[in-house]
Amino acid sequence: MNMHQLSVRHITVTVRAVTATALIYTTTLGAQSLDGTPLSAAIEPHRHNTSHSATNSATNSATNSTTNNAVNSTDHIQASNAKNNVKNNVTSGTKNSVANRMVNSVASNEAQNVVANNVVANNEANNVAKDVAKDVVQHSTHHNRGTVLYHNATVIHPATEQKITDGWLLVQNGNIVAHGQQRPAQPLPAADRYEDLQDQFVMPGLIDVHLHLTAGPFRVEMVNGAPTMTLKGDAEITKYHAISSLAYGITTAFSPAGEPQANAAYAKAQQQGQWLGPELFYAGYVFDPTPIVGGSVYPSDPAQWQAEIARQKAQGVRAIKLYGGLTADEVAHGIAAAKAAGLQTIAHLDQVSWQFAADQGIDMLTHALPTSAELLSGKARSAYQALRQNPANQRFIYQWFAYVDYDSQAMQQLFKTLAKQQTRLDLTLHVNELFYFARELEQRYPDSQMWSFHPQSRKSWRGLMAAPSYDWKAEDFRLAQQQMPKVLELFKRLYDAGVPLAIGTDLNTSGPFYLRELELTKAAGLTNWQVLTLATQGGARHIGLTDRGQLTLGSRADFIVLQQDPTIDLQALTQISTVVQAGQAHQVSALRAALTP
Ligand SMILES: [Zn+2]
Repeated sequence: MNMHQLSVRHITVTVRAVTATALIYTTTLGAQSLDGTPLSAAIEPHRHNTSHSATNSATNSATNSTTNNAVNSTDHIQASNAKNNVKNNVTSGTKNSVANRMVNSVASNEAQNVVANNVVANNEANNVAKDVAKDVVQHSTHHNRGTVLYHNATVIHPATEQKITDGWLLVQNGNIVAHGQQRPAQPLPAADRYEDLQDQFVMPGLIDVHLHLTAGPFRVEMVNGAPTMTLKGDAEITKYHAISSLAYGITTAFSPAGEPQANAAYAKAQQQGQWLGPELFYAGYVFDPTPIVGGSVYPSDPAQWQAEIARQKAQGVRAIKLYGGLTADEVAHGIAAAKAAGLQTIAHLDQVSWQFAADQGIDMLTHALPTSAELLSGKARSAYQALRQNPANQRFIYQWFAYVDYDSQAMQQLFKTLAKQQTRLDLTLHVNELFYFARELEQRYPDSQMWSFHPQSRKSWRGLMAAPSYDWKAEDFRLAQQQMPKVLELFKRLYDAGVPLAIGTDLNTSGPFYLRELELTKAAGLTNWQVLTLATQGGARHIGLTDRGQLTLGSRADFIVLQQDPTIDLQALTQISTVVQAGQAHQVSALRAALTP
């Protein structure tokens, strides 16, 4: 947005790196004006060395206005969501009473056998019967107040590869307080309310570990007469993407980069029930020399590093994001400084190798682009280094795969180190695919199917994905596309080595990209069960959450209801009927209706 404020159509900027909604390279900007005119783009193949002071002050004011917007728009959202009767079940959850509730639930279950059985044994049981049953329950005991029993579903447990037919889940205060299987001669547990899922399938809510939910679309604006890259968020766009991601079954997300204030504002509003969307955990600005308003910071000395890390920590970040433009020394310093502040680190690296970062104790690595020459050997390494002489040449994003030998000592050592240290990875395989097929995105992702994007982002995202390949010929695309199996093999090698992996999309909305990432994960050689485990338990592990990702006793009631069985066909994820988040049920049709102006 704000593209119309640009006083020029064509601007030339030096971009050492590109965006948090995608990967960052020195390249042509694919951004577009509102009327679709490309904001063109020449390349200057040298490092950007603009002073950061102007950027910093711009960042601060941008941040303030974004935060205010987020706060102001809360009222509108509250009003528009009133019909959904959004409740905040999160804060009322009490871990220590799970056992008590279990006991109570079982006890009252015994007491109400007859009533509950009568209600449930007959699937035709109408609301009147249920109301009567509820009445009896409420009058005879108060132990089960607020419980909802989801029943008549096949409950899928990806992590244990179990499928429970005629399964049920008892939910209270946003948590699962009991679960089991309905047997012919036995009654269902008593509950205040019964939700007959009509033979559908239930699985844990999906987790997107790479969702830049609050980042604005990447764009260029004129600031004080100079073209300036910006990722400033916009509350209305964030609100849209949050709802559309939830509608795709994403109940929890991690944003590995974004304005810390905007992320904090979203997380708070979401937890208070004022915003609908995935529960968000996040990192803050990326640490990188490339100035991006609302996107990056680049401290110049250890005291500045410490101060910036402290500022981000105060905004609730879980990790510090280190970026591809940092030197090895800076990466090492960032890891140590974050650790000293009690924070984790996540890195998107390029020339600094994954091995180096792992040796320094990095916690997370992102993107299937371990594009350091240090991981190559012999002639391959020198050929690759020659290619990297020209920083404007982005062909390395596929050439590295042509050169790498996964059986080499360097790569074997890397797999071993990452497994030993349990470094968490999200490879965003589909981003490689988007880059390698950048000229085919309109056919692959037609606008008509892109309702998950806010109308203002619906067109611009493709330009972003086409940025690295601005000067590629047909032959380059052919060679790039040929590397896709090798990209998938990287995933499989890491998986087989025991490296913890998770599923991420790297966009502002999970949308169809999440399912594409699952399909590519399957194409890498995993079973549907394994893929679904990474999408749920793997995501929770990636973020460091133990209360979700599985439908077990005491875990959060985050689950999705599907018409088809996703363990048979992942495409079942395109037919989610209901998303339950912290015990709050949302019909996907209602979520989608909320996106229609
Ligand atoms: Zn990203």
